Amino acid sequence: MASENLKVLIVEDEADIQQLLSFHFQQAGYRVEICGNGAEGLKKARERKPDLIVLDLMLPGMDGFEVCRALKGAAETRAIPVIMLTAKGEEIDKVVGFELGADDYLTKPFSPRELLLRAKAVLRRTQKAEGAEETPQLRFGELLLDLARHKVWLAGKEVELTAIEFKLLRYLLETKGRVQTRDTLLDKVWGYDAYVTTRTVDTHVKRLREKLGKFENYIETVRGIGYRFAEKA
Ligand code: CA
Repeated sequence: MASENLKVLIVEDEADIQQLLSFHFQQAGYRVEICGNGAEGLKKARERKPDLIVLDLMLPGMDGFEVCRALKGAAETRAIPVIMLTAKGEEIDKVVGFELGADDYLTKPFSPRELLLRAKAVLRRTQKAEGAEETPQLRFGELLLDLARHKVWLAGKEVELTAIEFKLLRYLLETKGRVQTRDTLLDKVWGYDAYVTTRTVDTHVKRLREKLGKFENYIETVRGIGYRFAEKA
């Protein structure tokens, strides 16, 4: 798999290891982001949605265990593979047991080449697993749609939507940036047979916006035409 455009987030407090990892991941074509502590790492992971996280265990403040637990405990970051870095003698058993949900681990000192191989393997595995479980997702800013289970999360919190609201949100999101007329929405979301009017579309969009709360402007009104999902969050 080409590693071009894959984003790796490195959470590590030691400057020399930061530099070493940064260099090797960049050489391999990854885009690299670096954080020096756990809390910032967690924040970046949520904001930037990296494809992979390399997480040191011993970090100032919030340690790697806590960060990993938080990542794997939240719907929006659960799917991001995590490779833990541990120093010899640190609680390796815990990591090895993967009870935290880390996808792999390496013990320091390690060769960057080995880490890159592990990274590739983990990425291949997690991407396959996603396909196998058929849990395609749609993401937009703070919004996450689980298409298989018809579940929606907003800023990490689940939002209850009716079946039609889910369909409407999904359609708008899949066509984001493009204006949809009320007639198109009726056709695509409700279907030809449904006994509904364009007024119904407005009512449902209104309710959907209410449920999106402070993110209601994800759905824009295009005067005289219809609705459009925002291009950018
Ligand atoms: Ca450390």
